[in-house]
Amino acid sequence: MSGVALVTGAARGIGREIALKLARDGFAVAVNYASSEAKAEKVVAQIETAGGRAVALQADVSDPDAVISLFSTVTDELGPVHVLVNNAGITDDGLVLRMSADQWDSVLNTNLRSVFLCTKAALRSMVRARSGRIINISSVSGISGNPGQGNYSAAKAGIIGFTKSVAKEVGSRGITVNAVAPGFIKTDMTETLGAAVIDGVEQQIALGRMGLPKEVASMVGYLASSDASYITGQVIVVDGGLAL
Ligand code: NAP
Repeated sequence: MSGVALVTGAARGIGREIALKLARDGFAVAVNYASSEAKAEKVVAQIETAGGRAVALQADVSDPDAVISLFSTVTDELGPVHVLVNNAGITDDGLVLRMSADQWDSVLNTNLRSVFLCTKAALRSMVRARSGRIINISSVSGISGNPGQGNYSAAKAGIIGFTKSVAKEVGSRGITVNAVAPGFIKTDMTETLGAAVIDGVEQQIALGRMGLPKEVASMVGYLASSDASYITGQVIVVDGGLAL
């Protein structure tokens, strides 16, 4: 495949592996980051060393003006976006009884508002091109819920409803919209959980271990490929058999 892919939050973790996978698959990749500039430049260097094309672009994807300027820069530097991966996300856990409105808003803005803003911006050129792929990173937390993650699971469930609605809106324009729902994946986000929690979680996973970022990236690569041309509005769970 060729064309331009934009991956939000691609300096580290799952987003980084998605950027590297899409570059290996032939896409020119816009590596978005919020604050991890050096790590984003490293991802770009790794792609370029392997013979690919990439740029690192800073933008807070929950900010409407930043998103407009991000898409305009990607278009100027690489071309119109053909594959959008809405990956950027944060957690700010706490029981609902103790959760502040700010904790709610920041997680909803970063994890859900960003998906709306980037999707809207990407659709302009995709509708004109009558083709495109949007892949939203949800979570099993948005399917099954998780105590202490009321804000996060609401955002991730919101992504699923949004994915299905947009899939129905733009299917006739040749654009597919899907969600990937990872389980527990080894990244900075889960590193803070502590060994005891991780042990407990691993016992609930059929495959008995946490997943790797590249195991999520390979599903994203598939959904971005021509092999997935007849798949839209779906939520693909990549969790080693956690949410069975
Ligand atoms: P991570 O290692 O903590 O990385 C999060 C990424 O999001 C970082 O690159 C960060 O950028 C970026 N980001 C955060 N706020 C942003 C903003 N406002 N604008 C642009 N980028 C922003 O997390 P991860 O584990 O790779 O998670 C990636 C996605 O998978 C998230 O949506 C997460 O909810 C989802 N997920 C993860 C797991 C898991 O077990 N790890 C499970 C299910 C779903 P900077 O570094 O530049 O700040």
